[in-house]
Amino acid sequence: MKIFIISNRLPVKAVKTESDNFEFIRSEGGVATGLSSLEMPMEKHWIGWPGVYAENDAEKETIIAHLRPHNYHPVFLSPNQIQNFYEGYSNSTLWPLCHYFFTYIEYENKYWESYKEVNKLFCEVAIPLIEPGDIVWVQDYHLMLLPQMLRHTVEGISIGYFHHIPFPSYELFRVLPERAELLNGLLGADLIGFHTHDYMRHFVSAAERVLDLRFKLDQVLLDNRMVYVDAFPMGINYSLYHDAILKREVQQKAVELKKSYGTHKLILSVDRLDYSKGILHRLRGFDLFLEKHPEYKEKVSLAMIIVPSRGKVDRYAGLKTKIDETIGAINGKYSTINWRPVYYFYHSFNFEELVAMYHIADIALVTPLRDGMNLVAKEYLAAKRDAPGVLILSEMAGASIELRESIIVNPNDVGEIEQAILRAMEMPEDEQMHKLRLMQKDISTQTVDKWAAGFIQEMNKIRSLNEVLK
Ligand code: UDP
Repeated sequence: MKIFIISNRLPVKAVKTESDNFEFIRSEGGVATGLSSLEMPMEKHWIGWPGVYAENDAEKETIIAHLRPHNYHPVFLSPNQIQNFYEGYSNSTLWPLCHYFFTYIEYENKYWESYKEVNKLFCEVAIPLIEPGDIVWVQDYHLMLLPQMLRHTVEGISIGYFHHIPFPSYELFRVLPERAELLNGLLGADLIGFHTHDYMRHFVSAAERVLDLRFKLDQVLLDNRMVYVDAFPMGINYSLYHDAILKREVQQKAVELKKSYGTHKLILSVDRLDYSKGILHRLRGFDLFLEKHPEYKEKVSLAMIIVPSRGKVDRYAGLKTKIDETIGAINGKYSTINWRPVYYFYHSFNFEELVAMYHIADIALVTPLRDGMNLVAKEYLAAKRDAPGVLILSEMAGASIELRESIIVNPNDVGEIEQAILRAMEMPEDEQMHKLRLMQKDISTQTVDKWAAGFIQEMNKIRSLNEVLK
């Protein structure tokens, strides 16, 4: 028995070098980083886009040859598909919809056509690889039609789907012209998973009202088989982050960073460039904090790591300009010869640098306007290890359901962010350690391996139950 993880991106991406060769680097983003380190008790295969346009067969062959030993199987997308399936339907229609950015949703028929075409392409790549008895686990909103396509073409397999982003309330989901097709697509799976019970309830209510189905708690009977839904909050590879500071190069990096930030406190923020992450509200909250509490000038800086993302989607390019301007304005207003309020990094950090930053940061400011889970919050807590630190976390992030000992804020309320920074700055060290320990205990048991094992165990259970129905 083999397991196939199918996601839009593979855990590594190919990048074209100046000499027209390819370099392979790890992909960013929660899904890829979280799933790539999974330990599985069976042969693991991965199907996904290698992140680059391969111009001819020779390039495709080079990529295939590099990925084959890892059991990674690339799905090659044309520039048109990248534009209409990926940047279009996935990131300009579904993403804003699921994150409640209603006015950002773009409807274009060509986006939808391409979405169907690419889901089919993934299905075609998967078909010759999959055998009866295998488990197929489809990941995320790019591939919502795939479970049903697989159900219709391959017999005797277990199909799971996990939705890594929020599932919006029915009132929002119903606006989509393709709402029924997408729901039917997902219902091809045996098990549909979400990060939280709220997302799961939203899905159930959308399926009941759009498709006129009746769920019995977490299950619905369709054509002689049961489909199950459940919440599986995703965790992190805890020991990877918790033990990182024991590595010499991470320690060295942490010491260097600490030196370069002087004696003042450090607030850290880490996101992909995305309007759902609440970056501008966060900056305004920090600005308000400095304005209302001048005694903290020269005593605290905000290090803002923003990883470039979806640069070809218009909304993202515009946001970047606004962030640049806002940071420029804050630094222009408050900087002194000895102090810079905001350190701004517009590039991704490698693992060692990132965990060193997590480790030395006194406060992590994680305030997305909407976020399916948010792994940065969990990684920060793990990487602190035995050092004190405070997590300020948005109530709109899935992670806030679990991380109750953080300072929870409404990310739309700039005044609340300012107050939370003040509270974090003034929190006694023993209180910080107490809260940190409680949250570390939780996330050290709810790891990403456990998350995946729980999902697969549930799929196996469902397979046996559905055998009986046949
Ligand atoms: N990340 C990274 N390099 C960076 C900054 C972030 O690899 O320079 C990773 C980070 O460790 C985390 C992921 O990107 O695992 C972000 O996941 P999250 O769930 O917070 O947000 P997403 O990007 O999936 O919306």
